[in-house]
Amino acid sequence: MTLSLSAEKIHRQPWPGLIEAYREYLPVSDTTPVVTLLEGNTPLIPATALEQRIGRQVKVYVKYDGLNPTGSFKDRGMTMAISKAKEAGAKAVICASTGNTSAAAAAYARRGGMRPFVLIPDGYVALGKLAQALLYGAEVLAIKGNFDRALEIVRRMADNYPITLVNSVNPYRLEGQKTGAFEVVDDLGNAPDWLCIPVGNAGNITAYWMGFCQYYQAKKCECLPKMMGFQAAGAAPLVNGQPVAEPETIATAIRIGNPASWEKAVAAKDASQGNFHSVTDAEILNAYRILASEEGIFCEPASASSVAGMLQVKDQIPTGSTVVCVLTGNGLKDPDTAIKYSNSQIKQGIDPKIEAVAKAMGF
Ligand SMILES: *Cc1c(COP(=O)(O)O)cnc(C)c1O
Repeated sequence: MTLSLSAEKIHRQPWPGLIEAYREYLPVSDTTPVVTLLEGNTPLIPATALEQRIGRQVKVYVKYDGLNPTGSFKDRGMTMAISKAKEAGAKAVICASTGNTSAAAAAYARRGGMRPFVLIPDGYVALGKLAQALLYGAEVLAIKGNFDRALEIVRRMADNYPITLVNSVNPYRLEGQKTGAFEVVDDLGNAPDWLCIPVGNAGNITAYWMGFCQYYQAKKCECLPKMMGFQAAGAAPLVNGQPVAEPETIATAIRIGNPASWEKAVAAKDASQGNFHSVTDAEILNAYRILASEEGIFCEPASASSVAGMLQVKDQIPTGSTVVCVLTGNGLKDPDTAIKYSNSQIKQGIDPKIEAVAKAMGF
């Protein structure tokens, strides 16, 4: 491991949440009411099984943002968006969501004393995310249309009604999310050579690039990473260069055909000499199983697209370099996919006797 940890650094400090931790880099003032669940500070985990698959001297880490309070990186953006909405006196917030934004918006809005409204594509939100939104107390409206249509509607709603939009077109969302890049640099002592990241609405790739650039200007890192964005093959507008009318993928969190941050994501890719690629659902599921069964890391399918992408283009990774793959969400979000596509099966109907259990185990 190349992470340099002194005894002092290892000694545990209480984490104050990302707004307090990175206050000087964020658009908050002393009077901003900070709505926080102490999000951020997620681990950068060495991934040796992935390194072995590359088969050369390359360091690979995963930034496991599924360990945020509601189980995805959306919390980074939502602590900022909700704090700023509260500062402005908002009583209600609205978002379109493939699931994780709704969970985060609901949790933070309720914590801040606001009403969360969420529009979701009917039938395409993973079970865990739906459970969260409902229990947190969101007012959930399922529309007979996809995410892109839901986003069009909520943008109009926010223009015409007294309600604050908390999708990533809200600039405070990206401000919060850029702290993921700060943490990567703080842990590595520099920026990685490559940053591999799933791309749906393209807010997160934009935010990470903002974070790296800001840290570079503050002389916190000496280089900038290539931004490698990965989309699902059935929902790859940035790879195709045109919107996808009917996006389809098992990775519902990135089932988006017309990304809101399209131009900014292209600018990040170009400025960093990075690239966009698409990964098939089969490649995503393969990476999803490898992460869980070889690294012990359970992420959701959309998150695995960063690792699927890295494995797809592994021959292009320069020897001696450091790669970080962002794992955007927790595997528990989508138990249905885990059960359906795992390689393991439950051996059922076993007699409750030692001999029967031993026999079933192959002894
Ligand atoms: C939102 C989300 C994404 C996509 O992020 P964008 O900012 O929309 O590109 C990827 N993975 C997960 C788990 C998400 O919740």
